Amino acid sequence: MPTLVMKFGGTSVANLDRIARAAKRVAVEVANGYDVIVIVSAMSGKTNELVGWVSETSPLYDAHEYDAIVSSGENVTAGLMALRLQEMDIPARSWQGWQVPVLTTDAHASARIEEIPTKNITAKFGEGMKVAVVAGFQGVSAAGRITTLGRGGSDTTAVAFAAAFGAERCDIYTDVDGVYTTDPRITSKARKLDKISFEEMLELASLGAKVLQTRSVELAMRYKVRLRVLSSFEEPSDSAGTLVCDEEEIMESNVVAGVAYSRDEAKMTLISVADRPGIAAAIFGPLSDAGVNVDMIVQNISEEGRTDMTFSCPKDQVLRAEKAMNDAKTSGAINFHDLVADEGVAKVSVVGIGMRSHTGVAAKMFKVLSAEGINIKVITTSEIKISVLIDRKYMELAVQALHDAFELDKAG
Ligand code: ASP
Ligand code: MG
Repeated sequence: MPTLVMKFGGTSVANLDRIARAAKRVAVEVANGYDVIVIVSAMSGKTNELVGWVSETSPLYDAHEYDAIVSSGENVTAGLMALRLQEMDIPARSWQGWQVPVLTTDAHASARIEEIPTKNITAKFGEGMKVAVVAGFQGVSAAGRITTLGRGGSDTTAVAFAAAFGAERCDIYTDVDGVYTTDPRITSKARKLDKISFEEMLELASLGAKVLQTRSVELAMRYKVRLRVLSSFEEPSDSAGTLVCDEEEIMESNVVAGVAYSRDEAKMTLISVADRPGIAAAIFGPLSDAGVNVDMIVQNISEEGRTDMTFSCPKDQVLRAEKAMNDAKTSGAINFHDLVADEGVAKVSVVGIGMRSHTGVAAKMFKVLSAEGINIKVITTSEIKISVLIDRKYMELAVQALHDAFELDKAG
């Protein structure tokens, strides 16, 4: 029997009615002849509540217990989904991560899946089980402790199961009906994409499009798992949702696939640091040790052996970054004149695999921003992406103007 993985996010299992509705979707695929592996999230809001209980009880909590508690939301929805399917006369049972087992590293709260042995579930399919309902987001370490995969981790569970079982496809049911050219809340011209390549999706996910956990896209790209993102609130159809797939499967597409943004960025500049071998390591080593996620980096021209170093990071990490830099200065590892933080910036990016073969995308982007009178503070590029830092107050305008200029409202 071909295998299909169907993942239901928190809003799709938010209450018993929604679970019943999701179960009907599962029944359709069972009738289509699939052995189905259903991956469920916790009911929406549940994980936040559990995290809150943990912090309230123990501010510096033990990560083992955090995982034991926070993983429990998925156990409830897995059991309820299995029961609902049984009520529909579909042979189904629930599986917690350790029962499969989903073997992970012991990095509690952000564990990585190492292996999913397929033996146990395959044996049950052989005995007539039609649906395995698996609790997403959780696994078990070599030490036998329950682990979780980081927030949003049930997407990664779903892709990992699809890879392990060689599933035909991995359908991710969520509360939006697919991946859009940009956030529809920013422009009503945002258009749902029928297909998007793994690489573009990876950029969009890491740039702040929240439909899929970034790691799940990485995994899908590595194992070539065809992912479909679709809404559990719409009527099923073959063209529903967005297919995330290999670029070979996409015949025609726009040069730019989407415009992404990330609102809460900060730009920090170390003024007058010594321009000598090892200076970048001396700055970014301590930042990384302090858990600062540095994104863009610019080293300015040097004058008389001194230079300015600019980097960006999430706004809520500014204090940590300042502390790391001041500590490094005190210890003598680095020396700078001043550290200036601009906490009022946002990042706007255009993404598209078409940029590999089309020149002029960057020039056009800069022209569009200049026509709107928007000043660019920092620029970075990769093969398929151009990102700029701008004043946060112009973020919406920039997204709208770029979306218009690259004609993303029209299909490629
Ligand atoms: N329930 C977990 C969370 O809210 C995992 C998930 O839903 O993907 O992060
Ligand atoms: Mg999610």
